Amino acid sequence: MEKTKKYHVEGATLTIPLRYDKKSGRYMEVYPDFIKDPVYTPEGHPIMLTLEDACAFGEQKAANEPLVDCGSCRFYRQVQNALIGVCGCEKNRKNIVE
Ligand code: SF4
Repeated sequence: MEKTKKYHVEGATLTIPLRYDKKSGRYMEVYPDFIKDPVYTPEGHPIMLTLEDACAFGEQKAANEPLVDCGSCRFYRQVQNALIGVCGCEKNRKNIVE
């Protein structure tokens, strides 16, 4: 059976497959392509990889810090001990129609 790790992120549940890495002797998380197949929180905020290239709506956390990826964006809410987080930018929020 495939090993997985579950994350509960602001109301969304993600199941991330794990792959054994012989070199490090550890299981590594295999994250999906969130650009190709977006996943949203119930509030409509997209889940992103920390290392995803910054988008056109991104903003620096501080004037002296470069904006290179989501992890360096002031809208990003990092999940602890993972390479995922939530984009809190309203321009990237999906309209939820219930
Ligand atoms: S966190 Fe959101 S707004 Fe910031 S760079 Fe990533 S996708 Fe763009």
